[in-house]
Amino acid sequence: MTVDETDRGREYDIVIVGGGMVGISLALLLNRQALQGSEQRPRRILLVEAQEISLSKGTGYSASFDARSTALSWSSRKIYQLIGVWPELKTQVSEIAQIHVSDRSHMGLTRIDAQEAGVEALGYVVENRWLGSVLHKQLAATDIEVRDAVSIESIRPLAAGMRLSVGGQVIDTRLLVIADGADSSTAKKLGIQTQRHDYNQTGIIANLCLQKSHAGVAYERFTDQGPMALLPLSNFAGRPRSALVWTQPNDVAQTLMSADDQSFLEQLQQRFGHRLGRFQQVGERISYPLALTTSAEQVRRNLVVMGNAAHSLHPVAGQGFNLSLRDAAALADSLAQVANDQLGDLETLERYQQRQAADQCNTVIFSDSLPKLFGISSSAAALGRNAGLVAMDLVPALRNGFARFGMGMATSEAGNQ
Ligand SMILES: Cc1cc2nc3c(=O)[nH]c(=O)nc-3n(C[C@H](O)[C@H](O)[C@H](O)COP(=O)(O)OP(=O)(O)OC[C@H]3O[C@@H](n4cnc5c(N)ncnc54)[C@H](O)[C@@H]3O)c2cc1C
Repeated sequence: MTVDETDRGREYDIVIVGGGMVGISLALLLNRQALQGSEQRPRRILLVEAQEISLSKGTGYSASFDARSTALSWSSRKIYQLIGVWPELKTQVSEIAQIHVSDRSHMGLTRIDAQEAGVEALGYVVENRWLGSVLHKQLAATDIEVRDAVSIESIRPLAAGMRLSVGGQVIDTRLLVIADGADSSTAKKLGIQTQRHDYNQTGIIANLCLQKSHAGVAYERFTDQGPMALLPLSNFAGRPRSALVWTQPNDVAQTLMSADDQSFLEQLQQRFGHRLGRFQQVGERISYPLALTTSAEQVRRNLVVMGNAAHSLHPVAGQGFNLSLRDAAALADSLAQVANDQLGDLETLERYQQRQAADQCNTVIFSDSLPKLFGISSSAAALGRNAGLVAMDLVPALRNGFARFGMGMATSEAGNQ
């Protein structure tokens, strides 16, 4: 379908492409500002999602809201409080009371404690499907327009915005936000390059039924083949559960994916140990190839690239979504300060990018270096990292610094708006 250049498209102030965890959260943040009674005309926002979503039931499902669980940081909680979804979300989240970091076969071990850090919880684990259900319900209660199960045929910069052809319809917008995930096909349409570093690792996720209660402890265990995380989940049918993220070299992961449940659990038990007793049962396993991808450009006039489309990180530190949510809050805050006809101004968008640059840089480096540091098996490296873990265990200030970073409090005061 080609777009007639003389047509006037249906007009929006902001179009968000990608209704995943980041796209919807941004839409709700932008909508919150519209509700705060600014003098100007309310902003017309459109969310475009490739998959079908059923908003009316509040049980929408999309690629973003699959069987994974996400560790939300303190900063994410504050942002969800701002947009009013936290009271419902928290009815099915598990608080992280303690993070237990260990290195298999070495003595280094540290515990980071919520009480010691002076916070109610170090983070909150939410199942992505529940997060999706709550966000979709909130979205359905707004004036945000949604077009789902459509694809974008073309995008063209205009003098004062962007023109899109979506499902055969011409759409003009002052600002286009691309949030359609890693290796964004929409960004590619505009010639935006992506840098990709393949970890040659696969992340296997699954929910586990446990013999012993996790007592709110999140386990981060580094092994010579890759890190694993066990995040506390709410009980299911009275049984304690944890969400597993197990990173393995691609070939090992392939074997683990095809193993039967019994053999999978045995291998996991051998790697993790018996801190949670015997693993009783494993749910559906899903695998994700892991790569660090970063977009070469995040802003242009009338354009922002966000979420995984801007930076997709190794999941070991549980930082990718939390960072994107801080980006979304910062963008919404920057846009709240300008008139509708300035939404696409390059200076505004560059200011947003500068504001987030340090947070993005620190989080990308942290998420990239952790699996590398713990993946080195030489004894000198093992000594160094174990000394680090031991030091962290002995020095509260170090531990608190680590905790503050993990909670999204170190580089950003997101949510303070
Ligand atoms: C195993 C694993 C565990 C993780 N755990 C954590 C964690 O604990 N904490 C944390 O902070 N982060 C975590 N992450 C990272 C987190 O999942 C991502 O940061 C998050 O999914 C990014 O969301 P997104 O909306 O940018 O992209 P996506 O989730 O990829 O969503 C993109 C959306 O865009 C849609 N789309 C695609 N193409 C188009 C198109 N052309 N037009 C319209 N729509 C389109 C898709 O259907 C989808 O709905 C984890 C990641 C993995 C792989």
